[in-house]
Amino acid sequence: MSFADLGLIPELLQAVADEGYTEPTPIQQQAVPVILTGRDVMGGAQTGTGKTAGFTLPLLQRLSRHANTGTSPARHPVRALILAPTRELAVQVFEAVAGYGRHLALRATCIYGGVDMNAQIQELRRGIEIVIATPGRLLDHVQQKTINLSQVEVLVLDEADRMLDMGFIPDIRRILTLLPTNRQSLLFSATFSEEIRKLADQMLKNPQLIEVARRNTVSDTITHVVHPVSAGMKRNLLVHLLRHQPDMQMLVFVDTKLVCGRLAHFLERNGISADAIHGDKSQQQRTETLDSFKSGRLRVLIATDVAARGLDIDELPCVINYELPHTAEDYIHRIGRTGRAGHKGNAISLVSPEEKHWLADIQKLIKFEIPQEAVPGYDPGAEFAETGSHSHARRIGGGRAEHKDSGDKADKGPKRERHRERPAPRAVIATDGFDFSKPYEPAASQNATAESAAAPTGNPNSPRRPLAALLGGLGRK
Ligand code: AMP
Repeated sequence: MSFADLGLIPELLQAVADEGYTEPTPIQQQAVPVILTGRDVMGGAQTGTGKTAGFTLPLLQRLSRHANTGTSPARHPVRALILAPTRELAVQVFEAVAGYGRHLALRATCIYGGVDMNAQIQELRRGIEIVIATPGRLLDHVQQKTINLSQVEVLVLDEADRMLDMGFIPDIRRILTLLPTNRQSLLFSATFSEEIRKLADQMLKNPQLIEVARRNTVSDTITHVVHPVSAGMKRNLLVHLLRHQPDMQMLVFVDTKLVCGRLAHFLERNGISADAIHGDKSQQQRTETLDSFKSGRLRVLIATDVAARGLDIDELPCVINYELPHTAEDYIHRIGRTGRAGHKGNAISLVSPEEKHWLADIQKLIKFEIPQEAVPGYDPGAEFAETGSHSHARRIGGGRAEHKDSGDKADKGPKRERHRERPAPRAVIATDGFDFSKPYEPAASQNATAESAAAPTGNPNSPRRPLAALLGGLGRK
């Protein structure tokens, strides 16, 4: 994909070419078209992904209709406000705005604390369309009536999680009250705590969630578990698990269209509402199935990897790998449909002895061992342990824990929570040597895991429930 494919105007294409960028990064590919439509965005992305250009380019394009070379300050009201937590970040964003906007007659300035206000006041008096500010100093200007925010059309909150850490949220809430309600708002954060979500609910209207996962990493909010089971017992175990969690909607992944359809029939016969989406279904059938899932009428959606591409899901509580994917990266793609935007998620894998080598590949990629829990009545026992060597299955449902490979005595200690078993260190350097702390380089993006949830989070006041939106929306995997 090129920058021209994103629908950017020639002035911005020129600026991007001046920077030497050849192709948009994953966050740019996703964010630019959405922001151009005027929609609010909740973006999950960290520094180094190219997020600054991801919001700056469409912001400049949306303001380009106001570009003018007039000298009267009245012709240059503040139309965009970008809030950043630190002076360094504010300057960085200002430089990006100035750079990408160099072929447009729009003015930008940067205001931050720790320096004399007078020079900033002079600058604001000239008339400025784009103000990049730290919250405290902005409020100083508001107090002194040296800035007028009544014509702001676009608000950007960058690095919201750092704003929170630095105690800026009350300032931001105050600033929100000073802005026109009819505006576009964009919030970017590397993490989404409850506090950030509350702020997003207050600040954003029907936002589109755009997330760019760090490559080969999985969300910390997902609890992973493997249930060892023989291939022939899988469908019974699935029914057992579904009955165990009667209120939970689940997305079930299988490897083939054949299994997809058969499994849906089997679940239906067992009184569980289920349907399948796979490559042989018409677009209309898929749409109807997805609508049923989205509305909650359908409890279980069974999908192949191909059919699930582009499936946008918000707040899905559970993903089940009925069959393990044969490519380890697909595990990350599949389970990335749960545990989004800081929500808790469950990733359950039903693994037969024949699939253990795929499990080993997955664990190598995600860099931790997934806890194994044998479900009484479905445990393949020695058959599973014998295939391969590394197993430390333990029982659930009242059974005592056992460490099959170590010969340890049964674990008599208190039952630990599953997620604690996961050695949590989050790798900054991926297995392929990709360093997430470095600025984005196009070559490194080729295999990037660009997972995104594009479903609107909807009216914040509406009841939260598992929500699935449609296939293929933005052409992402
Ligand atoms: P950011 O994540 O916005 O801090 O950007 C990180 C770095 O990536 C900055 O140095 C940008 O100049 C650079 N960058 C942004 N977009 C691209 C692109 N499409 N191609 C190459 N580099 C980029």
